[in-house]
Amino acid sequence: MEINATLAVQWIEKTNEKIQENKEYLTSLDRPIGDGDHGLNMSRGFKEALEKVKAGNYPTPADVFKDVAMTLVSKVGGASGPLFGTAFLKMSVATAGQQVLNESAFVKGLEAALDGIKQRGKATTGEKTMVDVWEPVVEWLQDNGFEPEGLLAEAEGAMNATKNLTATKGRAAYFKEKSVGHIDAGAASSYYVFAALAEVLGG
Ligand code: ADP
Ligand code: MG
Ligand code: MG
Repeated sequence: MEINATLAVQWIEKTNEKIQENKEYLTSLDRPIGDGDHGLNMSRGFKEALEKVKAGNYPTPADVFKDVAMTLVSKVGGASGPLFGTAFLKMSVATAGQQVLNESAFVKGLEAALDGIKQRGKATTGEKTMVDVWEPVVEWLQDNGFEPEGLLAEAEGAMNATKNLTATKGRAAYFKEKSVGHIDAGAASSYYVFAALAEVLGG
């Protein structure tokens, strides 16, 4: 598995495709235990991010991730903008200067992204947030190496598992036990990020 700047742009393109297709669904997840804007936030952010990186000519994946990060932070109002923005920024810093990322370099980038999300949101696993997808997926990649079907299954299982959790971070935390029974919106959008990765690297 190798990622160059072109493939990094393809990852963003595929992620954007999934986010746009599932915009209403993401919003419907955020409605009962949030403020019903997650689909809108993510669709606006990734549309702008894709426009930005498609127009660029990037020497490294890190340069792509940096522009994605800046766009998400500046265009997405909600909690998810700074969190996904931090993820892509940390990925950029961790992979800086490398024209091609091999599997180990890329997984290091994802590890840095996860750490960034956790630091920024002060959340750990089990709090019903995007961390509950990012952490198991990154650990799965560390243990198993890249394999598209396994990655997809891990991300999907982790997303679905947020349904049984009680939210203790973000807006959903106001709903306390009433948050049980709903998939976390940011966990679902994180699933699309990893599903896009599996498709781009697997196909
Ligand atoms: P907002 O809650 O500001 O309306 P969004 O609806 O776009 O923002 O994003 C909500 C998602 O952000 C949640 O579903 C959750 O996954 C994630 N989130 C919120 N707060 C945190 C946090 N402190 N740490 C990690 N993720 C968080
Ligand atoms: Mg919201
Ligand atoms: Mg909001």
